[in-house]
Amino acid sequence: MTEKLIDYHLHTSLCRHAIGSLDEYVEAALQKGLSEIGFADHFPLGLLDFWPEEPVTMDPGELEGYLRDIREVALRSEIPVKTGLEVDYLPGKTEKTGELLRRCALDYVIGSVHFMGSWDFTHPRFSSQFQGCSLENLYRSYFDLVWKACYSGLFDIIGHIDVIKKFGYRPGRDFLVSLYGETARVLRETGVALEINTAGLVSPARELYPSEELLQVCLQEGVAVTLGSDAHSPSQVGRFFPEARTMLRRMGLEAITAFSNRQPYPISI
Ligand code: ZN
Ligand code: FE
Ligand code: FE
Ligand code: ZN
Repeated sequence: MTEKLIDYHLHTSLCRHAIGSLDEYVEAALQKGLSEIGFADHFPLGLLDFWPEEPVTMDPGELEGYLRDIREVALRSEIPVKTGLEVDYLPGKTEKTGELLRRCALDYVIGSVHFMGSWDFTHPRFSSQFQGCSLENLYRSYFDLVWKACYSGLFDIIGHIDVIKKFGYRPGRDFLVSLYGETARVLRETGVALEINTAGLVSPARELYPSEELLQVCLQEGVAVTLGSDAHSPSQVGRFFPEARTMLRRMGLEAITAFSNRQPYPISI
């Protein structure tokens, strides 16, 4: 049962490491019984003059067509289809990012940290770089970027907020707990929503993004929560959503947050 659940983190074949057309994602969502979806494909990093070694986003020239295609699909869809983007937080590029995003008619923007410097630490090809790192230093630097992303004012939602654990490298629990407290405080203060991203469950970390412990701390602070599968194929739409809802209800959450035209509103679950 996934009624009244929304999947706000869908990719498309445009980003070159996902498969499926917009229509196929909508069809999959209908079959899963979702009440609403949103596309959040990777914003073209070329527009920010950032060219990672492994290209993971659409090309600059494809952005307009992406936004237009979503609007067209939304018109013929039985459920609301929202227009979103997953945008990297790149320090030093925030002004340019804001200027570009203002030109797009969007329902929401997911801010994600995938890069530390030029290192795409979420990419399996570069995961050996975790070895020999001080995990405490690494996590501190990562969460520092997340906090800055929140304060940048560019984003409505933070995506996969503890994705730094993706390949299973984790510092000690006490250290993590101190980062969690600060993270929850920053989210509350900035009003940025927290994404429950179920892709973590199939990553080597085998855990939701965020971890239950981080989620708990954020809920205590009254942080708003959205839901996304980070689907890179239509078959992944809404994956593990019934489990996620059970957990959210167990934690006492009665509503998640949806967005229209970058304005949040609650949907009861
Ligand atoms: Zn992706
Ligand atoms: Fe991401
Ligand atoms: Fe994503
Ligand atoms: Zn993502």
